[in-house]
Amino acid sequence: MVIAYHLSVHDDGAHMLGPDTFRVPRDAGFYDWRFGCEGVPHPATCATCGRKTDAEFINPGFRVRKRSRDLTVTYDGFVLVSLRFRNFCETTSWIHDVELAALPNDPAYFRFRPLRVIEFDAERRGTRFEEPCPECGKFFNVVGATPVWLRNVREPIVDGVFRTDLEFGSGHEQSPLIIIGTETAAAIKDFGFEKVDLKPVRL
Ligand SMILES: [Zn+2]
Repeated sequence: MVIAYHLSVHDDGAHMLGPDTFRVPRDAGFYDWRFGCEGVPHPATCATCGRKTDAEFINPGFRVRKRSRDLTVTYDGFVLVSLRFRNFCETTSWIHDVELAALPNDPAYFRFRPLRVIEFDAERRGTRFEEPCPECGKFFNVVGATPVWLRNVREPIVDGVFRTDLEFGSGHEQSPLIIIGTETAAAIKDFGFEKVDLKPVRL
């Protein structure tokens, strides 16, 4: 039985954190570089492992590159949506369950973030947590997001947009999965948004 859909979008070929990086001592473990800002660790990241610590960060100069798209995602895991997609959201019952934040340098797009959280079943998936960070206490690598298994969902979720409690990927790439209801998925499909993949989540 399909209980929801996993929505994924294609990458925008850019980083929200910006173009600046700096090298760190190799004995820090992890990568030997991090995102920076004027030669110091980027304020929206953990200085030790480079994971994002501010999911609401917006680079004031950022502009979407793939401008024909309605949904796109940066390499560092920020989802951006078009005015057209925002208008679609405004016709739905879950408009107040998502955050659509303005981009100061790009009025045609918004940073999109589901506010409702759904539990991912890491045990059932066998998700691996590697390289704990002594500073932020999180893991540098969280590997194994698909196929998606959800915890505590017994019946199909019909409407709505959620993010998983876990964030997947390595370092600055880490981001939650976007999980949507079955009717929500059908509406997105009907609207014909491009470069959007919808994969069924089963019980
Ligand atoms: Zn850290």
